[in-house]
Amino acid sequence: MDEILYIDDDINNLTGFKFAFKNSYKIHIANTPSEGWDILRQNEIKVILADQRMPEITGVEMLEEVAKQYPNVVRIILTGYTDVNDIIAAINQGRIYQFIQKPWDKEHLKVVLDNGIDTYNLRKTNEDLVRSLQDSNKNLECEVEKRTQEINRQKQELELHKNHLEELVTTRTAELEQAKIKAEQSDKLKSAFMANMSHEIRTPLNAIVGFSSLLAEPTTTSDLRDTYIKFLNDNAASLTVLIDDIMDISLIDTNQLDLKRDHFSVTSIMMERQDFYQLKPDCNLHIHFINSDHPEELILFNDGVRFKQIISNLLDNALKYTDSGEIAFGYECRESDILFFVKDTGIGIEEKNQHLIFNHFHKVEYPNRLYRGTGIGLSICKRLVCMMGGKIWVESTPGKGSTFFFTLPYEHIPVELPVRKNKSLLSSNFEKLTILVAEDDPINYRLISDILKRTGASIHWAQNGIEAVDYIRSNPNLSNCIVLMDIKMPEMDGYEAHRIIKELNPEIPVVAVTAYALTQDSYRIKEAQFNDCLTKPFRAEGLLSKIANLF
Ligand code: ADP
Repeated sequence: MDEILYIDDDINNLTGFKFAFKNSYKIHIANTPSEGWDILRQNEIKVILADQRMPEITGVEMLEEVAKQYPNVVRIILTGYTDVNDIIAAINQGRIYQFIQKPWDKEHLKVVLDNGIDTYNLRKTNEDLVRSLQDSNKNLECEVEKRTQEINRQKQELELHKNHLEELVTTRTAELEQAKIKAEQSDKLKSAFMANMSHEIRTPLNAIVGFSSLLAEPTTTSDLRDTYIKFLNDNAASLTVLIDDIMDISLIDTNQLDLKRDHFSVTSIMMERQDFYQLKPDCNLHIHFINSDHPEELILFNDGVRFKQIISNLLDNALKYTDSGEIAFGYECRESDILFFVKDTGIGIEEKNQHLIFNHFHKVEYPNRLYRGTGIGLSICKRLVCMMGGKIWVESTPGKGSTFFFTLPYEHIPVELPVRKNKSLLSSNFEKLTILVAEDDPINYRLISDILKRTGASIHWAQNGIEAVDYIRSNPNLSNCIVLMDIKMPEMDGYEAHRIIKELNPEIPVVAVTAYALTQDSYRIKEAQFNDCLTKPFRAEGLLSKIANLF
């Protein structure tokens, strides 16, 4: 039921009103304005009626106050005729809704009250509408705020992403730039290497071609002949070193270089190297192996051949880059490794080059002097030392000299090394031996037979695999026979001939003699179970020691 409040100081008016309308509305009555306020606070009053003349306050004043606190409540004044002008003014100012003159007519008042309730309901609906509009507005604002925050967050993320991308692009660009510089450098290095290599090959070749033609001149005296032969030997040796280095580099680059570990005497290699360099006729430097007085022989378990190659390379360099003074080399035993060094008093190396010289093809060029070399020796040393379990580095002062250091792991395993034979192999005596030389190239055969002739061995020549097999087949009772088997021959190659010979007589040792020096070849030769292998080019000592080792 709609609720109505009536305030009047006359109790009879109140009861009369209540009685008249109690069936149509829920009627609240108040005898004073303060009672009226209490009712207003506790109920949903839609229409309030107030008497104009009350002792404390006029009806219009009271309703003005109500309008401030409950603006939707429809306010009606009940009044006698005398106050009409004041009340009309109040209606015009919007402070009250309507006035009813006493005594009121029930029917008329009912219409006014119903209209008042409709007005209240309308105001309320409006208010609810406005509120819900405000609420949805607020929601909208919240949503907008949320979306704005989300967009800001995404913007920040995008910003971060953009910065990260920019960083990535900068890094990648720098990396590409570096890679480009490296590629250009390596291109330049390779071109320089090719030019250098051509020079390094042509120089000894020129000497070999030139001096061998001079050697053939009938007018050449025997003294000159000895000198020319020495030149031929020296240049052939440097060509061999060059080819070995190129071989090593290509094996290293393709990870095919294998070490052959065994016990070897560092002391004897160092002593031998000291003698070798000191005896060089054109060497005017003092070369000193500083551990030569050491009573104990240093034995290592590693690749002795590669060790000799490293130390020889460092000594060759020391000699090449030192004009006067001395070269000292040796080792120091440390707790878990051996520190080797080669110290010279030569030209030294600027700090900026001290790392670079261990790279492939890196040569320091000097404007006033040409040093021969290809720039691969130290890069081979570095890789070998690394494979053997050590490190290599240099300390140097330009103009004063350099010291190259390298380490190798030390395992002390006591072993008995075979007694070194001092006798020259060139005076070997193989009188009791029959040597079958399977070789298709007449010059190479000539070289082998000339070396072997001095030993007294009986020599037979087979020009291909078939002839070699025929010789063994037709001499079934051969004893003390050895076969030197070239691998690449016409008709039947060395592998096939070796296989048949071993079937015919497994006791006969067969040494593969080959110009192939790649690891695959040595694997194939190993697999074929040759007794040994000799790589071309070889020297007389090399050939003779292979034969001596088999008997
Ligand atoms: P190269 O055949 O040119 O000597 P290496 O790889 O053995 O090649 O050496 C690289 C470079 O290191 C040399 O070109 C030289 O400039 C420098 N170098 C090597 N050893 C010495 C040394 N003992 N004294 C001064 N410079 C050296």
